[in-house]
Amino acid sequence: AKSEGRGRWRFFEPAMDAAMQLRRALEIELRRALLLGEFELYYQPIVDVASRHVTGLEALLRWRHPERGLVPPDAFIPLAEEIGLIVPIGEWVLARACADAAGWPGAPRVAVNLSPAQFASRGLVEVVEAALRDSGLDPTRLELEITETVMLQDSQATLQTLHRLKALGLRIAMDDFGTGYSSLSYLQRFPFDKVKIDRSFTSELGLSRQSDAIVQAVTDLCAGLDMVTTAEGVETENQLQTLSQRGCREAQGFLFSRPQPAASVPEMLRSLSDE
Ligand code: C2E
Ligand code: CA
Ligand code: CA
Ligand code: CA
Repeated sequence: AKSEGRGRWRFFEPAMDAAMQLRRALEIELRRALLLGEFELYYQPIVDVASRHVTGLEALLRWRHPERGLVPPDAFIPLAEEIGLIVPIGEWVLARACADAAGWPGAPRVAVNLSPAQFASRGLVEVVEAALRDSGLDPTRLELEITETVMLQDSQATLQTLHRLKALGLRIAMDDFGTGYSSLSYLQRFPFDKVKIDRSFTSELGLSRQSDAIVQAVTDLCAGLDMVTTAEGVETENQLQTLSQRGCREAQGFLFSRPQPAASVPEMLRSLSDE
């Protein structure tokens, strides 16, 4: 047993080392990426189900890596969150998104994702205020998306921050609803304007009775609470039709457009309004 233990140890040690080294290398690269301006925002439209008008666009972070090309957020945001780097990255995202949106034809809203670490950081309200002031964006055109994880933090402080943000005139959306630690009581306790139904439910629409029932229940509940529902990850006309029948107000997904670089947004808005 002893030799087996040693054998295992020898087997795992180099692998752990390699993982640690990779992590450290990524950390250094991430810090440099922020300094060198290697981050970019892509935008995906959010569409009103009844009229098919674009009501807003969600800003989605990408890393233009010199060798690895375009890196998706899932590959670096968890680490950035862990080491606190998401706070300055998120500050950049807010400033960039507001500046981009200020120039969009038809004045759709811009939705920006906030991470829990950003939400817990000091000065979030001031950072948002500065992004609005510097860009000249009308505050009613900014929407902040937060996940349920944020609600798990000190709820008094969270509630206070949410109210201070709302006092600026912007809107708050709950993201990824139905995953994680969802609690219906959050919808009552916190001042959300919108609930985004997670893609895992949308993709099952028409295929699973449970998903249909959940989407129906969430849209009914939100309507009663004066909140808009947005379904994420809409890929088919069938899903869109089902959502429409269930009273879901907005939809977002590859059916309308994949996320596009900032420079393509005016053209995207034009082509979507022609349809
Ligand atoms: P999310 O906020 O739930 O964003 C929606 C994700 O679903 C995006 O992935 C989008 O490209 C993808 N998506 C949209 N429509 C469809 C569809 O029809 N089918 C499928 N299969 N996928 C669809 P993306 O851009 O890779 O972003 C992943 C996550 O990274 C986001 O999930 C969000 O949690 C996080 N993220 C992105 N940008 C930021 C940011 O600026 N700050 C923070 N803190 N997190 C961000
Ligand atoms: Ca989001
Ligand atoms: Ca989401
Ligand atoms: Ca998600």
